[in-house]
Amino acid sequence: MNNIAKFDVIISGLGPVGAVTANLLAQYGLTVAVFERDFEIYNLGPRAIAIDAEAMIVFGMMGLDDWLDSHVVKPCIGVRTGVPPNGVTLLSVKPERHSLYGHQRIAFFNQPCLEKTLRDNLEQYSNVKVYLGHERIVERIFE
Ligand SMILES: Cc1cc2nc3c(=O)[nH]c(=O)nc-3n(C[C@H](O)[C@H](O)[C@H](O)COP(=O)(O)OP(=O)(O)OC[C@H]3O[C@@H](n4cnc5c(N)ncnc54)[C@H](O)[C@@H]3O)c2cc1C
Repeated sequence: MNNIAKFDVIISGLGPVGAVTANLLAQYGLTVAVFERDFEIYNLGPRAIAIDAEAMIVFGMMGLDDWLDSHVVKPCIGVRTGVPPNGVTLLSVKPERHSLYGHQRIAFFNQPCLEKTLRDNLEQYSNVKVYLGHERIVERIFE
């Protein structure tokens, strides 16, 4: 029994949500174990691509907003795409001219790149233990 590790919080999955949660909890001094099923960041596509100013505030709480602003997040550029031949508009994004809380109100990013930043940032915390290649099995209880 004595060699069983104890943690304040256990997180299943080191996707963006798990990685942000682990970073914030670690910052507040909690001990955290993260179990991630895969060994590599899922990188078959960009997946989520848009981020808003409120989310950047959360990254600012981790001290990552400036780094993300200059390396990952790209200011919103004008985009308009449609279906030929009649050109029905599917997506129209106007160039961003105003900022909110010191950040672009909306900007684009690459999810695998963001996830790598979050994982790299976790390495500074000795109170976080990441277990890659570990799948959490949840027992189902049938009533
Ligand atoms: C092909 C694709 C395209 C997408 N396109 C867009 C888009 O255009 N715009 C947009 O906003 N969003 C898009 N998304 C969604 C976006 O990627 C997700 O909303 C986001 O990744 C969710 O983050 P998350 O951390 O909650 O979960 P996930 O990113 O799914 O991360 C969960 C993590 O948990 C791990 N895991 C799962 N089960 C277990 C277990 N039992 N034990 C241990 N680890 C486990 C997984 O390996 C994974 O690393 C797309 C997703 C996919 C797959």
